Amino acid sequence: MGWLNGYVALVTGGGSGIGRAVVKRFLAEGCSGIGVMVRSHEQADSLVAEFGDQVVVSIGDVRSGWDNQAAVDTTLDRFGKLDTLVGNAGVWDFFTRLEKMSLEELDHSFDEIFGVNVKGYVLAARAAAAALRESKGSMIFTLSNSAFYAGGGGPLYVASKHAGLGLIKQLAYEFAPDVRVNGVAPGGTVTPLRGPESLGKGERRLSEIPNFQENVANSMPLRMIAQPEDHAGHYVLLASRDNSRATTATVIQSDGGWEIRPM
Ligand code: NAD
Repeated sequence: MGWLNGYVALVTGGGSGIGRAVVKRFLAEGCSGIGVMVRSHEQADSLVAEFGDQVVVSIGDVRSGWDNQAAVDTTLDRFGKLDTLVGNAGVWDFFTRLEKMSLEELDHSFDEIFGVNVKGYVLAARAAAAALRESKGSMIFTLSNSAFYAGGGGPLYVASKHAGLGLIKQLAYEFAPDVRVNGVAPGGTVTPLRGPESLGKGERRLSEIPNFQENVANSMPLRMIAQPEDHAGHYVLLASRDNSRATTATVIQSDGGWEIRPM
């Protein structure tokens, strides 16, 4: 018996990293089925190989409203309802500073980063809204320490994650009392988070940055680098009606104590 017995969830960007750890933990907590929205056939195949018919996978781009709607509809068709939306797909900017980008790069990378990190969450929320109102469910969005502080990326990533914080508050306001809306804000985590294609960094991976793990661990008061599963319990808590009934418009920070790091 887990905290999410019989729940049905949809996780975007659930083919790797934090999203995949959430899928695995939600199933361990008793979810009866999970829709997963991924970008590639490889991710889809590997999810089905690991989780079988406990998951239904939709391949799409979170920047498309139709792809988000298809992911919601596929989840409803297979599992009959939706209790929890986890908006999680994201892209990072590899600390690219404003003056390092040409006007053309800035134009395209703004659209790409805000398209995935902000518009992707807006469209997922829109697609899932009716089903979540019906189930009195909840939405949980993956933010970042960059939703609160400077320095965890360049201006486009940091601004996109701050926008996510505003979105959570506004959606919590609009969907109350039917649907709770919250977030989880991880800090540096070992994942294959990619850079923007528009900056030629679509194949670069966060976890491949030289000394990434030591540098993150040394900068955190808890002296650690997180693994994706270190954050998964926060999503369980926020999804659980029994354990978070009174919680909306809240973000749980899971960043090793970034706010109290020594300057
Ligand atoms: P990840 O790359 O493993 O996960 C992101 C997923 O989003 C990938 O599976 C990717 O295929 C998917 N995705 C990207 N663009 C997409 C698109 N256009 N359409 C559909 N799917 C798309 O990396 P992760 O670190 O697990 O990232 C998950 C979330 O965590 C992101 O929102 C990220 O900003 C946030 N985050 C990560 C860290 C970190 O250090 N890894 C820190 C703070 C916040």
